[in-house]
Amino acid sequence: MISGIAASRGIGIGSICVIKEHDLSYDAVKIEDVDSEQKRFKDAIEKFKDETTQMAEDIRKRIGPKEAEILEGHLVMMNDPTMSGEMGKMIAAGQCAESAVEAVCDMFIGMFSKMDDDLMKQRASDISDIKVSLLKILLGIEDVDISKVSPGTVLVARDLTPSMTSQINKDNVVGIITEVGGKTSHSAILARALEIPAVLSVPDITGLVKDKDTAIVDGTEGQVYINPEGDILSQYIIRREEYIRKLSELKGFMGKETVTADGISLELFCNIGTPKDAKKAVECDGEGVGLFRSEFLFMDNTRMPTEDEQFAAYREAAQILEGKPVIIRTLDIGGDKDIPYLGMKKEENPFLGYRAVRYCLGNKDSYMIQLRAIMRASAFGKIKIMVPLVTCVEEIRAVKEMVADIKKDFDANGIAYDKDIEVGCMIETASASLIADLLAKESDFFSIGTNDLTQYTMSVDRGNSDVAYLYSTFQPSVLRSIKHIIECGRDAGIPVGMCGEAAADPLMIPLLISFGLTEFSVNPVLVLTARCIISKWTKPEADALAEKVMALATEGEIVSLLKESAKE
Ligand code: PEP
Ligand code: MG
Repeated sequence: MISGIAASRGIGIGSICVIKEHDLSYDAVKIEDVDSEQKRFKDAIEKFKDETTQMAEDIRKRIGPKEAEILEGHLVMMNDPTMSGEMGKMIAAGQCAESAVEAVCDMFIGMFSKMDDDLMKQRASDISDIKVSLLKILLGIEDVDISKVSPGTVLVARDLTPSMTSQINKDNVVGIITEVGGKTSHSAILARALEIPAVLSVPDITGLVKDKDTAIVDGTEGQVYINPEGDILSQYIIRREEYIRKLSELKGFMGKETVTADGISLELFCNIGTPKDAKKAVECDGEGVGLFRSEFLFMDNTRMPTEDEQFAAYREAAQILEGKPVIIRTLDIGGDKDIPYLGMKKEENPFLGYRAVRYCLGNKDSYMIQLRAIMRASAFGKIKIMVPLVTCVEEIRAVKEMVADIKKDFDANGIAYDKDIEVGCMIETASASLIADLLAKESDFFSIGTNDLTQYTMSVDRGNSDVAYLYSTFQPSVLRSIKHIIECGRDAGIPVGMCGEAAADPLMIPLLISFGLTEFSVNPVLVLTARCIISKWTKPEADALAEKVMALATEGEIVSLLKESAKE
């Protein structure tokens, strides 16, 4: 078994076709006839643009607009005179077109690849693709025609350029293995869009295999087997069938309502960090946004985002969701999330310190800006305000007072907003759980943040691996806390959701159904899985299981029972 990066889920088993690298060497001769070399160069650029436009169009039709953007980006770069202008100057000075292309591209590749930012690094790989394409045109080298490989092929290459990937016929290619590339590289993005299992960054793979070798590509675990033993092969054939069965079962949940087996309707929302993620939530069939972690807007900046900038981001998310709920959590910084330009003090115990709503209420001017931005955006959809890390009633009251002041100001100045905008609490501290009955009287909704609730209930730093064995939502104390919060919400007549990771845990879902949770907010990619699991349980079945679970004394016993009772 060889390990690499799990870049596109699924299991592919097939016969290898190695895509050989072309020899792109040339003689760097001094050019005498500069004019005809300039023409050769310009013709190559035109051919590059024509071919790239054609491929982008093809990808747009066969795969999707988002994926076509990669090649459209290459066109933008080649249409910008910076790069081609530099190349032209070198040719004018007597260099051949090949060496001008190589020198200028290498200079930009070197510059971008040194930058820390992932997007900039990606730009380096774009320019590397452009370089290879231009050199092939200048040297008259035709690309291997990947569209013609036989059915059941596993493609092995050093790297797959977008141009190669655009020719992949997903009926014939069952897996992809490359030597370079990571989870966010173009090959990974395109493999995922085509739903072909892919393992990338497998060292030396092109040298280790030959055409017609059998390969297993486990794109879920990031593992590759070459000419596997019979028993491994048969195990993987079974696993592949199981995976395909599950996948088609999940796809059947697209566009469906979220209901238990006995017809109780529940809400299934998504957790997002940026307006771009809001699109993902919709694509993944989320029924709303249960947690918009607004701090990402602040962390991706070198200064405080202005009211207008924040308003634009919140409005964009609300518009993308087209009237479905978008619960925006106000700034949750401190703890493990530092924002350098805020100049927060170093603390002995940051998780117990000046963070989230505590910081916001201590810095009301900036909090006011955020609340105003959220409330202005509420005119464009169904936005709700959620307050993180509440520990006492005074905090939610203080936020509501600020909201009331903003309403007065907006009314006086004719600024549009949703007059019924709801304000709710995240319940994620032991204190909030213990006073959930009191908080429920002051809140329009609750959302349980199990990531922190577990940390604060168990007194365990959620990022400390030495105590990770205690960090479990299945600890009896945490389960009791969750049950209690949901009951307090129900008694007060307010909806209770959950936006911590536990909301998507297949073992937790039956317990949450039994306790009466009404809204589950999960990572967009887990929407269909959660909907599928919810559909398998009836309330009486979930209740019977929960009763047994709540009588157990240890986390180990609870997890064993839940595993035994899990529905596949
Ligand atoms: C939580 O604590 O459960 C939560 C959803 O918030 P975060 O993980 O951002 O702290
Ligand atoms: Mg939290």
